Amino acid sequence: MLNKIKSSENNCYMPCFSRLNLCITHGEGAVLYDTNGKDYIDFLAGIATNSLGYNHPKLTAAIASQASKLIHISNLVYNEPQSKLVDTLITNTIFDRVFLSNSGAEANECAVKLIRKYFYARHEERYKIITATGSFHGRTMATLTLTGQPKYSKPFAPYLPAVEYVPYNDFGALKAAVDDNTAAIILEPIQGESGVIVPNYQYMVDAYALSRRAGILFGLDEIQTGIGRTGRMFAFEHYGITPDIVTLAKGLAGGVPIGATLARGPVATAFEPGDHGSTFGGNPLASSAANVVLDYVLDSNFLSEITAKGEHLRNRLRALKKYEWVKDIRGMGLMLGIELDPTVKNTEIQSRLMGHGILVGTAGNNTVRLVPPYVITTAQIDRLYEVLESTFASINI
Ligand SMILES: *Cc1c(COP(=O)(O)O)cnc(C)c1O
Repeated sequence: MLNKIKSSENNCYMPCFSRLNLCITHGEGAVLYDTNGKDYIDFLAGIATNSLGYNHPKLTAAIASQASKLIHISNLVYNEPQSKLVDTLITNTIFDRVFLSNSGAEANECAVKLIRKYFYARHEERYKIITATGSFHGRTMATLTLTGQPKYSKPFAPYLPAVEYVPYNDFGALKAAVDDNTAAIILEPIQGESGVIVPNYQYMVDAYALSRRAGILFGLDEIQTGIGRTGRMFAFEHYGITPDIVTLAKGLAGGVPIGATLARGPVATAFEPGDHGSTFGGNPLASSAANVVLDYVLDSNFLSEITAKGEHLRNRLRALKKYEWVKDIRGMGLMLGIELDPTVKNTEIQSRLMGHGILVGTAGNNTVRLVPPYVITTAQIDRLYEVLESTFASINI
């Protein structure tokens, strides 16, 4: 079965992905099942996306019920789930306006256009966008340019002009890069793809303050960190800052494709009719799913559970530091990374854990990435720890 599936992939799909040797058929809670009926506790969640896990009763029911009524209708007319979603997003956050799309990259594309349009309308020669090295913002041409990692962008030059990169977590470099043509700084509150890199608290605070002094926009890519992942609705809440623009996607609709660009203040109304659009964006199906997810993540008790589970996981992982090749345990909430010394490959750990019924992710810096669905249980976290411990104990280097 798996071999047949693999051969159609190998012959038909453009060869972009290096996939695991695994075909998943369904899931329940935080457990996945493959074509052989083997189960896996899921610490990857479709890359930090399946926020409510699998076959979540309310999410499944809302999607099924919406599908029976209306899946898509275009933005030429209104639809109720979308109206509810944007109202929820604006009423419960510091933001004034939202644009809905279908993916993280699209949410960031929208942010770039919004930034450019804002200064264009003000007749200000500000167009330069500063991002960080090691960042990840998507795979479209503009977001690939924002992504400060040549390994993703090198073959695709020329890029979007006027993007400048500065080392992450280096305030001096950021300050030096801001000039009269700078329009915005865009950062991730935690860099996910490049290894769950958590910046210093003061860096984020200073970066935001710099943007206020310079009269430029401050955008945060919360596509991975947002929607409760770090134990707060937005990761920026940990830093007490109030960005002008935030982008969301991954966890927002529990796995149904969606993207959202939120903005506050004058930039929130920079677009005029015709400036931007999306055929699918905010369609009733995706919006109905997001409405269920938001019901959960806007509840402070639910967020506290994420924090508590994250702390439990982190405390257990700390014990692994006794292995000298475990270099670092870091992250926030249910977004954690275990950085390993180059002598032990993260992909090797990943495949050994798969053998024991645990699915984890990998990220840059030889890091094992743990971003489970929020419905993960303490018992499942303890099981991960047991398997990690026995796997690490069996490694001879
Ligand atoms: C995943 C991710 C993206 C890209 O999202 P897509 O839906 O794959 O386009 C952008 N930024 C961050 C921080 C991400 O983690």
